[in-house]
Order: sequence, then C-alpha cells, then structure tokens
Amino acid sequence: MNIHEHQAKDLLKKYGVPVLKSQVVFNSEEAGKIAKEQFEDQGSKVIVIKSQIHAGGRGKGKVHNPDTNEVNVVNGKEVRGVTVITGDNLSGKAKDIAQATFGQKLVTIQTGEAGSIVNRMLIEDGANIEKEFYLSMLLNRETGRNLIMASTEGGVEIEEVAAKTPEKIIKEDIDPTTGFQGYQARSIAFGLGLEGTAFKNFVKFITKLVNAYNELDCSMLEINPLVVTKEGEVIALDCKMNFDDNAEYRHPYWKDLKDESEEDPLELEAAKYHLNYIKLDGNVGCMVNGAGLAMATMDMIQLSGGKPANFLDVGGGANVERIANAFRIMMSDPDVEAVLINIFGGIVRCDRVAEGIIQALKTVEVDIPVIVRLDGTNAELAAEILEKSDLEFNVAKNFQDASRKVSEVVEAA
Ligand code: ADP
Ligand code: MG
Repeated sequence: MNIHEHQAKDLLKKYGVPVLKSQVVFNSEEAGKIAKEQFEDQGSKVIVIKSQIHAGGRGKGKVHNPDTNEVNVVNGKEVRGVTVITGDNLSGKAKDIAQATFGQKLVTIQTGEAGSIVNRMLIEDGANIEKEFYLSMLLNRETGRNLIMASTEGGVEIEEVAAKTPEKIIKEDIDPTTGFQGYQARSIAFGLGLEGTAFKNFVKFITKLVNAYNELDCSMLEINPLVVTKEGEVIALDCKMNFDDNAEYRHPYWKDLKDESEEDPLELEAAKYHLNYIKLDGNVGCMVNGAGLAMATMDMIQLSGGKPANFLDVGGGANVERIANAFRIMMSDPDVEAVLINIFGGIVRCDRVAEGIIQALKTVEVDIPVIVRLDGTNAELAAEILEKSDLEFNVAKNFQDASRKVSEVVEAA
C-alpha cells in the first residue's frame, strides 16, 4: 500500500525523524490562507508548494490542463509539480500556483502520459540546502533481509545512478538477529563524506528512520532527497512510504490513509471481490488460476505477439461468481481485444470450471473472442461441455495450441 508524502512525513515526525514544518491543503483558497497565516506571517522567507500524488518525479513534471493537455503557465513560467517560492507576497504566489494546479493533470516520468489529477498540495518551509543525498530502506527479496541504500547522488532517480554509476550506491544489509548497528550508521555517514555536526545528525537520523521502518511495517521507505543544510541539519525533504499489506491488521489507521483516487478503478473493483487483479496496458485479457500459471500465461501471450491486458489470478476455486466478476472487470477495460482463460484443474475439476464459465457468461456481455484452455482433471469432459454450449468458445487443446490461437486472434485484430 502506497501513501502520500504528507502522510508519510506526519508518520516520520512521530518517530522523531526530522522533517520541515508543512501543512496539507485541499484547494487554492486554503493554499493562500495557510501560506499567509502559518508561513508568511510567521516569518518564512522561502516556501515550497508540492503536488501530492502517489508518483514521484514531481519536481520535473509539468501540470497540464486535462481537457486541452496544454501546460499551465503562471507569470510566464510553466507550472511544475514542486515549486520553490521566494521574494515578496509568498502567499499570493502560492495561491496562483495552487489555482493552476488543483484539478489539473500532473505528468511525470512515473505517471506516464496519462498523468495524475492533483487533489491535494503540501505547503512547506523552504530548506537551506547544502547538499542533497539519496537514502532508502527496503526488503531485499534475494537475501530476505532489509537493506539500506544511500548515495551522494540525491534528487536523481536511483535507477539512473544504479545504471550509470553503481559504485556510488552504498549498501548495508541488516542482520535480523542483531538489528541495525551503530557502526553501520557511521559507515554509511563516512561513505557519504559527512563530517562534524552533519555526521552526528545523520547517525541519529538513520537510527530513527530504521526504527520507523520497522515499527510501521514498511516494505519500502525512500528519502530522496535527504538534505544536509548549511547549518549541518539532516532533514527528510521528500518521502515515499510503502507498507507491507500483510501487516494491515496491526495498523487499523491505514485504511484512513488510503487515497482511492490514486488507484486504478478496475483494481479497486477487483479488490472488492478478493480477486488478484493488476491492470496492464496490453490487449489480451487473461484469467488464470494460480499466480505461477498466470505469470507463465502472460509470457505466452507476449511470445504470441499479444500483450497481456492484466494479471488475474482467480484462485484455486474458480467458481461461477468469481469467474463472472473477473469477466465483468476484464470487459470494462476498453483495450481488451481477446480473452484467454487458462485453468489447470488440480483440486478443482475442469468440467465444473467449464460449467462455471458458461453460467458466468450468461450474465456478462462478451463480444470478443474467448480462447479457453482447460487441462487436468476431467479436461476432456470440459472441452465437450464448452463445444456443445451455445456460446462461441475457441477451445484450445493445450498450452501451445492456446498460444497459436492467441496469435491468430491478435493478428486478425
Ligand atoms: P519529486 O521527487 O517528486 O520530484 P521532491 O519532494 O523530491 O519531489 O522535490 C523535488 C526537488 O524540489 C527536491 O530535490 C528539492 O531540490 C526541491 N525541494 C523539495 N522540497 C523542498 C523544500 N522544502 N525546500 C527546498 N527545496 C525543496
Ligand atoms: Mg523526491
């Protein structure tokens, strides 16, 4: 589960991780008012206004009018996802930028062309930045341990650093039996070239950050940039926080942090029926039982010249209700040109699944080719049932045959 920067910073604050004073706002009136009363009138000389969307790359991203797709302009300057405001009349400028951003579409390297509509913004004090660093913590699935990554190349996408200058990434693995050690904190601080006050502050910072990561059941926590100020303070200027969904029962407040406007509507719908569905950008919908077979099916679709429109694991049972819901969700994706059902009957019998598919399709309108491959227990009986039904199925004999049928359909489309 993903949350907004402002929510992540509120949580970090609770764990003593230094962040700057900030306040989330939900419209441009509020932006102007808060910028004036809580920042300008309190002596802020520089403020920053930041669009809150779940994707990163906001600083370089531009704000577009969602209808015309043109980039919005304020005082002759294109509006970005993050704006540092200086000079006089800070609150007036903040309000103008907010007005040109709320309800508009922010396009960043991470959102892709489609962009994300901005519904909330963060007003924050400006930092007196000396240097920007990169710092993150995540579960390393190769070692099964938590890993800390740090780099002097802050503010830059870490993937870019990893590709071009991998030697600039410092890594520290955390041994779960001993936990994060003081020498590891110092080793990272040395690696980043910190000295004096900044060194001491960094050691405190990272110790608190690791504690927050553990207590909050994060699966990923990224501070990019982590800044050292001219005064040697160490501050989290940005924060991306991901939770381990399996720990939701320990954190009942997580449900209040969810922002459904940031999620794919089809995925939200699928979650209601406990379907394991992830929307992708291809043209062949696939419905499979079991995550492993679903992965193999997606590979097969790709090799056949199609592109998977989704990942969908209907689970072991593959009963009528689940199949019907899954179909409805796939059919509401306008990009889907064909559907491949690939079910292996191990525990579940294929004839049952075949009947389930037929019943389900009586309740959903399907006007595109449906290729079905059922294998395992009672597969032959299942094929007979499908062939005999009034519905038009393209029954495949095996995985290879299914693959060929997918290619034919894709070519025809
Ligand atoms: P994103 O990663 O989505 O681009 P960031 O929060 O990292 O957004 O902001 C982008 C850049 O904007 C930062 O690298 C930093 O240079 C600048 N910035 C962000 N917040 C502040 C702040 N409070 N004070 C000064 N500069 C800031
Ligand atoms: Mg950032």
